[in-house]
Amino acid sequence: MNIQFYNTLTNRLEPFEPLEPPKVLMYTCGPTVYDFSHIGNFKTFLFADVFRRFLQLTGYHVHQVMNITDVGHMTDDDVADATGEDKMATATMRVREAKKAGTLPDDAIGDPDDPYQIARYYTDAFLEDARALGIQVAYEYPENMPHATQHIDAMHSMIRALLDNGHAYVADDGVVYFSVQSFPEYGTLSGNSLDNLIEGSGGRVLSEHQAHKKHPADFFLWKPDEHHIMKWDSPWGPGYPGWHIECSAMSMKLLGRKVLDIHTGGEDNIFPHHECEIAQSCCATGNPQFARLWMHPRFLLVEGKKMSKSKGTFYTPADVYEGKVTGRPVHPSVLRFELIKTHYRTQTNFTQKGILDSANTVRRFNEFTQKVAGEADNEPAEIDNTHPVLKDFTEALADDLNMSVALAVVHAWLGQDLPDPHEALAVSKAIDSVLGITSQNGTADNTDLEAICNQIDKARSEKDYDTADRLRDELIEQGYEIRTTPEGTVAQKKLA
Ligand SMILES: [Zn+2]
Repeated sequence: MNIQFYNTLTNRLEPFEPLEPPKVLMYTCGPTVYDFSHIGNFKTFLFADVFRRFLQLTGYHVHQVMNITDVGHMTDDDVADATGEDKMATATMRVREAKKAGTLPDDAIGDPDDPYQIARYYTDAFLEDARALGIQVAYEYPENMPHATQHIDAMHSMIRALLDNGHAYVADDGVVYFSVQSFPEYGTLSGNSLDNLIEGSGGRVLSEHQAHKKHPADFFLWKPDEHHIMKWDSPWGPGYPGWHIECSAMSMKLLGRKVLDIHTGGEDNIFPHHECEIAQSCCATGNPQFARLWMHPRFLLVEGKKMSKSKGTFYTPADVYEGKVTGRPVHPSVLRFELIKTHYRTQTNFTQKGILDSANTVRRFNEFTQKVAGEADNEPAEIDNTHPVLKDFTEALADDLNMSVALAVVHAWLGQDLPDPHEALAVSKAIDSVLGITSQNGTADNTDLEAICNQIDKARSEKDYDTADRLRDELIEQGYEIRTTPEGTVAQKKLA
């Protein structure tokens, strides 16, 4: 099967060629945790999840890492020029107001002045939402979902390397900046040139701090600041890291390689965030490449318009579940389907009608699966992706994740007369391993579960990582949460 995806870096479709197949190293820019993530954020995370699940269905072993940005200064306007508000400090005020207004429970965040309590609260909320939406990496927390605040050392090492090899400098205001002129490829991902960045790029790179920089587009790696609400000691004074350096340092550290196979994020991450990640990663490692494939889904629209705080259309998953959008409660699997059902490079329009259509499809697929599972006594036939339906389904997704075509295959199949329930069950399970819209049935009881965890530990101790990964993935598929503890692997039913 030919698999091809659209690479933002080269602006064209390219054959998918991970460096060490079947292993795939994938990094996804994760949530900021000073507020609830909204459904537009989740569309981006769900894209990465569907992409990962598709690669797994075709036999790849995906190691996905998604960061949690819990350092309080991470917006575009901030990171580009080292100014901007401290988001954690702003969050403190917002949390106080929300508690007063009763929109946050009284016991939610004991001390709104403690940024770690704020980050903890919104991290838990994120994990709960992400798990309810079937996002697999959320079941691998904290192993594959690192907190930025726990990897400051790795950021220091990278900044040190960049200073040592002349790609960074300490300006006379004490801030450590990356020198964009030291990296001629700066701008390749976003299609910017240093000349048009000087002219302002929407004002993003111009600031009062400009005087201290060698080039207006230079971005900060470390900012000494005694008064910042979250700060760490460093060779450049107590302060905090830039947002971009978080992702570069954590991706390479946790994935264990300097060149990643895939990097995903929202389209608003392309510039400056991903552009800066490429620059500092390549310059720190000396490799001409950081990630081979860059993928960016388009924004989510709500009723045809960009989401807006002032219009009250920044919906959270909870808003959707509670019926604030459609006037009646919505199941998480319906929201998941609604957010994945169109091609990721087209703008998805979130509408009331769309949600109702999605609910019909999810209901139909679930009823069908339950029916054939009953008829087949829950025993699927042995099939693989050469099965005619799966062949069409996977080939559609192999073409730059063409979900519309893949779903047309599913709809046509559901409308057929299917004589063999075992085969139909197997097909439906394979399809749902990507769509993730049936309630994943935990088939193993607790005894089985312990035995499987022991098998995972045994396989790992024998360096048989393929078996360990497969067993782990199977448990995750069944809706279990897996943790690695000093006593070994532990699995428990998902909470949400
Ligand atoms: Zn990132």
